[in-house]
Amino acid sequence: MRKLPFDKAKLKEISTKWPTPFHIYDEKAIRDNAKRLKKAFSWNHGWREFFAVKATPNPYIMKILTEYGFGSDCSSMAELLLAEKVGNVGDKIMFTSNDTPSEEFRKAWELGAIINLDDITHWDFLLESIAQGGEKPCAEELSKRLMCCRYNPGPLKGGNAIIGKPEEAKYGFTREQLIECYAKMKEAGVTRFGLHAMVASNELDPEYIIDTAKMLFTLAGEIHDELGIDFEFVNIGGGIGIAYKPDQKAMDIEYLSKGIEKAYKELISSRGMKPVKLYMECGRCITGPYGYLVSKVRHIKNTYRLYAGLDACMANLMRPALYGAYHEIVVPGKEESSQTSIYDVTGSLCENNDKFAIQRVLPVLERGDYVVICDAGAHGHAMGFQYNAKLRSAELLLEANGNVKEIRRAETIDDYFATLDFSGLDEKK
Ligand SMILES: *Cc1c(COP(=O)(O)O)cnc(C)c1O
Repeated sequence: MRKLPFDKAKLKEISTKWPTPFHIYDEKAIRDNAKRLKKAFSWNHGWREFFAVKATPNPYIMKILTEYGFGSDCSSMAELLLAEKVGNVGDKIMFTSNDTPSEEFRKAWELGAIINLDDITHWDFLLESIAQGGEKPCAEELSKRLMCCRYNPGPLKGGNAIIGKPEEAKYGFTREQLIECYAKMKEAGVTRFGLHAMVASNELDPEYIIDTAKMLFTLAGEIHDELGIDFEFVNIGGGIGIAYKPDQKAMDIEYLSKGIEKAYKELISSRGMKPVKLYMECGRCITGPYGYLVSKVRHIKNTYRLYAGLDACMANLMRPALYGAYHEIVVPGKEESSQTSIYDVTGSLCENNDKFAIQRVLPVLERGDYVVICDAGAHGHAMGFQYNAKLRSAELLLEANGNVKEIRRAETIDDYFATLDFSGLDEKK
């Protein structure tokens, strides 16, 4: 059974002020985890984690992470603006996007972000976007900027369950295209380069990530030899998994780091290359285990199956409905209960896949019981939506001192109606 950072009494106290459902994040656990990651990679001078903003796009969470030197991995206009708001600009932003609009390239350029191209045609598109019909940036300007390309190894790298086979993934350059693009950039005046790949999602095997690092270190060496360019950094992407299921084990970060360090020594140091900074852009493993969706049982229904209907629904956490993902469920106050039943735990959305758990053994539930859905701290609230006119819940921060702070208010009906205009309905025909 998962140990929660709050008990039933604390939830009662919190929910007098913020009714369920709400998301709550454990600040101390987020900080401890950030410290641990940073320490594990301290062997690499200049190591940096760029927190994938899409996982938990909340400025309070992002701000906490900046205290450990974490940058922001952004892929849209709003994510760039969020990064700017928390003080992450310049090379604290990794702009890894795809099918990118012109105005986002321009904003990323204005913020001084590290721009990570997804396709060979995007180099010219980037320059046009910056110029906006005027002068393209000159060689001198380009020489100051860190430019990166995203590699897609295609059939050279095996698949991963969520992200799938690289060959079938829409992201990144082929090897030949990489060479061509770096050569073009060099000719245009770029002198500062990075290399990136993101080929994992929710991966629990450290060897898979170590192999990605090996692949990129090798490739950086080959491109260095071929084009005579030095790489300032190699970005191994995100995708480190978390133990959603009770029988899974979290990735051993220290083991991962040692494995990458060994590969670095063999493939970078002993090759006589200049030092390369190791970058990563994880989201899930940074906040995932430290966020909880807290809800209450609204109805118990007994038909062909036993249903526990919650006041939360898939609009608050879509992963189970979207990928059949497993999330542990804890019923505070009944952790030790020997009385159990088998439930489908549902929300109120008019879609039969609106289920947080299917045929799950849980303590016998009653109306009003708190139900806590674990590992909702990344790709949880962020994936929320308003289908069926469901409103997104509040986000709360359980501070290190035990206080609770609202870091995003719950949506209201007015928010839902904000984009509608009812005035035209009154016009006489
Ligand atoms: C989603 C994404 C990440 C973060 O992935 P996690 O699984 O949350 O670690 C990092 N980089 C890119 C390009 C992504 O699309």
